Formats: sequence, C-alpha cells, structure tokens
Amino acid sequence: MTRTPDVVVVGGGVIGCAVAYYVAKRGLKVTLIDQPKRGRATSASAGGLWPLGESVGLGCGVIYYKAMAGMGALPDGVHGPGQLPRSFLDFAIRSNAMFPKLSEELRETSGMDIELERTSLLFLMYDEGDETFAKPLWERCPCGKDLTEWLTPEELAKAEPAVTREVRGALRFNGDDQVNPYRLADAFRAAARNLGATVLTHTEVTGIRVESGQVKGVETAAASIPCNLVVNAAGAWAPEIGGMVGIAIPVRPVRGQILGTETLPKILTACLSTTDCYLAQKGHGEIIIGSTTEEVGFDVGVKPAAMKTLSAGAIRAMPFLKNVRLKRVWSGLRPGSPDELPILGPVTGLNGYLNACGHFRTGILNAPLTGLLIAEMASGDQPSFPVEPFLLARFASGADERQMVTTG
Ligand SMILES: Cc1cc2nc3c(=O)[nH]c(=O)nc-3n(C[C@H](O)[C@H](O)[C@H](O)COP(=O)(O)OP(=O)(O)OC[C@H]3O[C@@H](n4cnc5c(N)ncnc54)[C@H](O)[C@@H]3O)c2cc1C
Repeated sequence: MTRTPDVVVVGGGVIGCAVAYYVAKRGLKVTLIDQPKRGRATSASAGGLWPLGESVGLGCGVIYYKAMAGMGALPDGVHGPGQLPRSFLDFAIRSNAMFPKLSEELRETSGMDIELERTSLLFLMYDEGDETFAKPLWERCPCGKDLTEWLTPEELAKAEPAVTREVRGALRFNGDDQVNPYRLADAFRAAARNLGATVLTHTEVTGIRVESGQVKGVETAAASIPCNLVVNAAGAWAPEIGGMVGIAIPVRPVRGQILGTETLPKILTACLSTTDCYLAQKGHGEIIIGSTTEEVGFDVGVKPAAMKTLSAGAIRAMPFLKNVRLKRVWSGLRPGSPDELPILGPVTGLNGYLNACGHFRTGILNAPLTGLLIAEMASGDQPSFPVEPFLLARFASGADERQMVTTG
C-alpha cells in the first residue's frame, strides 16, 4: 500500500536526496521523485568542500578569469570568479562543519562511506598578479587569519612534492575539504529510504496541484500523489517546477566541463586551485581537473578546446601529469542563480511550497545545511540558521545581497 506523503521532493540530485534524508530523519513521510536528465549537476561534480576558496573567489570560475581579465572585459558567456557575501560564507562554513558527523551517520544508516577527506585548498601563485590577488585574502581573510597560511616555495615543495617548483608560493585555506560527490548523493538517498522515504526514480513530475493557494499534490505520468508540501530541488530545471505553481525562478544552466585521470597512487594531499584550473585527487586515485563555467543553455557537449586548456593548466600545476592518461571527460549543468547564492525556503502567497535550488558551484558543499533547514521548515519549526538572505523574495525587493566578503 502506498503511503500518502506529507512531503514530496522533486529532483533526486544531491540537494533533493539531502532534503529527503533530513525530512525522513524528522519522522515525516516523504517521497523523492527523480527523472534523471542529461547534465544533472551532481553526477558531474568534483566534490570539493571549499567554503573559503569559493567565498573569496577561487574555484571553477578562475580558469578564465586571468586570461580574460588581460583582454579587458570578459566576453559573453564567460564568468570571472565571484566574491560572495558574508551570509554565503557563514552558510558554507556551517554546512562544511556538518560533514564529519554526517559521514558517521550516513555510514550507520546507509552502510556507505562518503569518502570525506579533511584536507585543505592551496592556491598556487605563479606570478606577481597571483600574489597581488592572494595577499589581501591572507591579510584580511573574512574567515580569520588562523585558517589561512602563506607557504614559501620551499614549504610548498615539502608539503606537496609533486607540485611544480615554478611558483612564488601558495596560500593555504585550512577549512576546505573534499568528499566523493556521487557517494554523498547515493548515501543520502539510501539513508532516506532506510528511514522510510519512498524513492521514485525515472519518474517525471509533470504538474503540481494547487487549491486556494495551498499545494495539494504532485502529478506524474503514472500517478497523482497527494501531499501537503512540495520541495523544488530540480537543479537547473527548477524554473520548470516553479512554472507549475506560477512562480518565476531565476535559475539557469551553467555548463562545467571537467576531466579525470587514470587511477594514480596517492600523490596529492591538498586540493589545488590555480588561475587555470583546480585539481583534487579523490579516494579512488583519479585526479579530477576542473572546470569551465559557460552559459550555453542545456548543451552538455564536451569540447576538445576546453579539454586542452584544462589539461595544460593541470600539467603546469603538476608537471608529471603530462605522462598520465586521461580516463574520462564529462560535463554538467550547474543550477546558477543571478547572485550565485542558493534559493531556499517559502514564497509569499503559496502554502506548501519550498525552494531548494540555485546552488550553482557549491551544491555538494551546501547540501547538508540545505537539507536540514528545509526539513526544519517542512516540520513547521524555526530554521536553525537564517534563511532570509536566500529567499526568492530577495530578487523581487531588489535588495543588494552582494556585499563583498573581502571588503570591510
Ligand atoms: C563540473 C562541475 C563541478 C562541480 N564541482 C563542485 C564542487 O567541487 N563542489 C560543490 O559543492 N559543487 C560542485 N558543483 C556544483 C554541484 O554539482 C551542484 O551545485 C549540485 O550538484 C546541484 O545539485 P541539485 O540536486 O540542485 O541539482 P542536480 O544534481 O542537477 O539534480 C536535479 C535533479 O532533478 C531532476 N529533475 C529535473 N526536473 C525534474 C522533473 N520534472 N521531475 C523529476 N525530476 C526532475 C534532474 O534530472 C536531476 O536528477 C559542480 C558542478 C559541476 C557541473
């Protein structure tokens, strides 16, 4: 017999799975519905947990920044790295801090290891421009100086012998870790199921039933599922779900191309970020080299030119990689929001609807706190972390949330 769910979560990427897990953990009935679409972001991710690096403007946007900044303006469709507001930094740090306990919880509830690695992120400084970029981050890091460390070339060589010696040094962010992103989503889903969630895979949500301003149910091709609350966790497709209840959600697909080497013995301890690319060696031995940031709609193609640029950047950072085979190349669609912050929580005038979308470059990192907060709101509780900066309403009010973390 099918149980009538209190909550239906639309989208089975890392965000939807995290929401389903935390909702089930609170004892609510929940159904997770997913239609796997080409380019879904969770399957493409590198699994970096980089609250500091992402907040101060490193990360996947860096690849084009330096080259393009030298050309004057960034061309259409190319991002520079953003520096994100304090509200984002606090959110990301809190979410990252949840991982150690979560990893144990998920191991117990799902039997899976999410391969959490407490490590750090090293920004390699190749030239004076890089030093000029890094110096203020070190001196006035919004995360506090104890979390950053300035490494001389000698210190870097000692810490990471496989990294190039052609550097002026490196800035280390000590709060930044990594995880296996696929395992994380799978473990959330399995744990949710073990806690009683119903998971409908290969099932497309085609409509949402609303009566007198209250969500009443969700439609799929096969069934009409009654519910009191629907959570929109549909990633880059979140606007389609919003459209079903008359809400305009300003999320767009932002393609990231990325590649992985063959399995290698452990050779890299920290994750690396440079002005060309980032690199992270995963638990299974592959070095992941990411990534582009492109506005090309729902095109999930992988282009030789991008592979060439990323490979060149990786070899520059770790010269021995020139003799290593690439095992796979792929791309995914980040759910980008206009200010790069997630879109969370309720919307005015509609009962029984919560957003959990727009996580852009940091959905893996921010999945635990997103899941927890949505579960708290779904239970009618006060969220344990402020959600105001992340409400959809911020776009309507024109409020400027983008106060830079590195200023003031
Ligand atoms: C190359 C790349 C590297 C990245 N690296 C990192 C990183 O290092 N660290 C980090 O934190 N983040 C990273 N990200 C970002 C991260 O992957 C995303 O923010 C995150 O995966 C978003 O998860 P999601 O669940 O919102 O979206 P998705 O994973 O896209 O999931 C949405 C799901 O909803 C489903 N869906 C859509 N419409 C419907 C419908 N009508 N009915 C049913 N199901 C539907 C989709 O098929 C999909 O399965 C990276 C992204 C890319 C592309």
